[in-house]
Amino acid sequence: MENCVFCKIIAGEIPSAKVYEDGEIVIFKDINPLAKVHLLCVPKEHYKTVAELNAAREAVLGRALKTIGTLAPTLGLGDGFRLVVNQGETAGQTVPHLHIHILGGEPLKWE
Ligand code: AMP
Ligand code: ZN
Repeated sequence: MENCVFCKIIAGEIPSAKVYEDGEIVIFKDINPLAKVHLLCVPKEHYKTVAELNAAREAVLGRALKTIGTLAPTLGLGDGFRLVVNQGETAGQTVPHLHIHILGGEPLKWE
């Protein structure tokens, strides 16, 4: 997708601090971290919201969650972490390519 910053990262056209990559997803450090550890898990296919899910995309996201859980101890997230998916500009989505925020590495407030 033209002008999508995450598609450009996936294509290697702009740099990122990748911590994991396979054929379906990439995980890299958020450039503006909101927690001690703040990663983004991004499916390689460009689409914006969960309203656009289909069977194949659901399967990728399911495997992505499993991968996050498996990798968590090696990513500094072993004591617990938070997953966030902002959906739409009203909710604060600034990049129109579905992504899972992974936040942790420190106690997180929830209030
Ligand atoms: P959201 O606001 O939910 O769409 O999240 C987009 C996230 O992407 C923000 O937390 C940004 O800090 C992050 N971000 C934007 N550009 C980059 C980039 N080039 N590399 C890493 N993270 C980025
Ligand atoms: Zn994209």
